[in-house]
Amino acid sequence: MPDGMSTCTGCSCLCPDIVIKDSKIFNACRKGSSIFKHQDERIEPSIEGKKVKFEEALNKAIDIISSSEKLAIFGLDTIPLEAQEVAIELAKKRKAYIDDNSAFCLGDFIELILKGDLPTTTLDDVKSNAYVIFYWGTDPYNSLSRHLSMYTYYPRAGKRQRGYEEDRYLVVADVRESHTAKLVKKNAKFIKVESDEALVEGFLSSMEGKAGKYYEETGRILKEMQRGKFNVIFGGLGLKYGLNGKYGRFIEMIKKMNELAEVYFIPAGFHANMRGFNELMFEKTGSINRYSFETESSAPEYEFSELVKNDSIDTALIVGSDPANSLPFDVVKKLKEINIVLIDPKPSLTSKIAEVVIPSAITGIDQGGTMVRSDGVRIKIEPLLEGEYTDESILQKILEGVS
Ligand code: SF4
Repeated sequence: MPDGMSTCTGCSCLCPDIVIKDSKIFNACRKGSSIFKHQDERIEPSIEGKKVKFEEALNKAIDIISSSEKLAIFGLDTIPLEAQEVAIELAKKRKAYIDDNSAFCLGDFIELILKGDLPTTTLDDVKSNAYVIFYWGTDPYNSLSRHLSMYTYYPRAGKRQRGYEEDRYLVVADVRESHTAKLVKKNAKFIKVESDEALVEGFLSSMEGKAGKYYEETGRILKEMQRGKFNVIFGGLGLKYGLNGKYGRFIEMIKKMNELAEVYFIPAGFHANMRGFNELMFEKTGSINRYSFETESSAPEYEFSELVKNDSIDTALIVGSDPANSLPFDVVKKLKEINIVLIDPKPSLTSKIAEVVIPSAITGIDQGGTMVRSDGVRIKIEPLLEGEYTDESILQKILEGVS
């Protein structure tokens, strides 16, 4: 790997300051480092497990997709916007289903932001201005290793120059004392949550002057929010599943908090460009995921795992994802029964069951492009090397080749 500077696409923090010098990787967290360190462990093009030339695999993929009657395109969260755009065009041309990981990840929060139901801000503004940094149902210490140091709790920046112990107020709400919760010492509060809905109600009661559940904690946090003026809540999977689709009172809570001080919401984090896919889909279809270009609508039964479970598809084009590793065992058993075309840079469990494997590039290493950070900021990524086959060029060839 040549010396240079790059952006890590290991998660939606999209850290832009990764330095490679003499094959050593600087500034990346453990997850980010391993992407750069093991970048040369690539998959070979194959058909039914047998190694073939790249063009053969591509032509076979075009044949399979052209003759499919019910196609789903899935994954797409680790590839740039430019490639996602072509995948959406392909789904449209083939009247296919298209979906990503956001349905079981934080897609709901992204949708609420895109619809204007939750006020949001950027991580750069958080770094310069935010006082209360509230992690709810997420453990960034483990899952988004540089979130706290790059953007939120630790930086001295803008109006927050006096260090985290004086100039930030950390709140962690979680069902257990996570590693992030262990950081709660001075100028901080940990709430061990039994029910996220009850905590929402607790905040609403406090703001109405009533002593509800968690009244001590909510009262103190609201006071700190007033003191800090600019505050942010980062919501993770724990919050999403805790609210169980009932977002009305949560939206009301944030609205009421904004009568006291500025309080913004940012989804905690996910795959590098999941938000990019959701934003593109929203622009083009009005829905963020689980979409059918046959019915021109989004529905829960169009979620990829449901399509597989219900025998609704005969072919899956999977891009930059490993559903054989992440889906439940009974769904994976069914996935094995349909045609799978996989576009991915690395060997995976899905590559073991795919009929056709087409190797692609890794964004930030051998392909560039645009990705959308967890806060909605678009990041232009320059590659370290010039790769031969980018996701965009592969998908473009398939789009042009399929009938
Ligand atoms: S925090 Fe995310 S983007 Fe940053 S180095 Fe780690 S994996 Fe990469």
